Amino acid sequence: MDEQLYTNAGRLISPDLTPGESEELSLRPRTLEDYIGQEKVKENLRIYLTAAQRRGEPMDHILLYGPPGLGKTTLAGIVAQEMGVQIRITSGPAIEKPGDLAALLTNLQEGDVLFIDEIHRLSRQVEEVLYPALEDYALDIMIGKGPSAQSIRINLPRFTLIGATTRAGQLTGPLRDRFGVLLKLELYSPDELARIIRRSAGILEQPCTEEGALELARCSRGTPRVANRLLKRVRDFAVVLGDGTIDGETARLALGRMAIDKLGLDELDRNLLRAVIELYGGGPVGLDTLAAALGEEAVTLEDVCEPYLMQMGFLTRTPRGRCVTRLAYEHLGLKAPEKPDPIRESGQQSMY
Ligand code: ADP
Repeated sequence: MDEQLYTNAGRLISPDLTPGESEELSLRPRTLEDYIGQEKVKENLRIYLTAAQRRGEPMDHILLYGPPGLGKTTLAGIVAQEMGVQIRITSGPAIEKPGDLAALLTNLQEGDVLFIDEIHRLSRQVEEVLYPALEDYALDIMIGKGPSAQSIRINLPRFTLIGATTRAGQLTGPLRDRFGVLLKLELYSPDELARIIRRSAGILEQPCTEEGALELARCSRGTPRVANRLLKRVRDFAVVLGDGTIDGETARLALGRMAIDKLGLDELDRNLLRAVIELYGGGPVGLDTLAAALGEEAVTLEDVCEPYLMQMGFLTRTPRGRCVTRLAYEHLGLKAPEKPDPIRESGQQSMY
């Protein structure tokens, strides 16, 4: 398994999948009706699916992009289910050699879905093999070496590739161009997350009030995976400290004990903001410098902390580095510095 998946394993609010989260499978919606939120994506997908079914053809290749934990794998499973075909799941770093991809492709059945997570991490050589497979459903294989080498073409069953990436910008142009459908997943609203929590609580047979669900939803960083994980942890508090029901009070108590504040920030988020303020005067500071100061991996800060901190308006990225905003000072209960006077700073005389 890819090590990258586990870099945030210890963090409750990490959107990455942690080892042993197999229970997640039972919480996965299996149909578009059960898939909550992402209305625009669902509406378009429904049309594409119906059109492909009417034509009796496989779905066009689909690229899903958005932060981790938003439901990309789930959506790929739904596409396979709606088309009545099998899905094979793999990831970019797991396909090391062109031969690995060839083995995957030749084992597909007509119409099957091949899901490649983290598709931006495919190697160049593997990508080259993928191009004719996507375009002509064919594999070009070199046999032999030197002057006697021969290229032979193997026909593949018509299949649908669903690629998922957290970084659409890192995909090569030629690969991106081969996807007929591009779908961007957005962070979920607290209302949508509360619905997801209530649905999951129902499956887990865990009583949960509307207020309790909303409390958890507000702290879930717009991410269903985080929402489900919080639900499972708070369930323990409800059973041990309460009457077994997750209501507003239990939720607030449990979140407090887990050091998650009312906007869903945990220790690492707050340490990040504090470091920018206390060590670098509010910024700008480079990502690597900040990571070293916090003893964290730069990629953890970039993929896990920053998207949410920026969405909340606490952090900005500038060409010179990261800066915190006035809102961040306020959230931490610190006094923001007075804005420097640009005229005095530049040493110019005011005209008036
Ligand atoms: P990604 O592939 O984007 O990292 P997943 O598809 O693995 O995310 O989703 C993580 C978990 O969140 C799933 O197990 C599922 O239970 C839940 N989930 C994701 N999207 C939704 C949704 N729209 N409605 C309900 N649950 C969802």
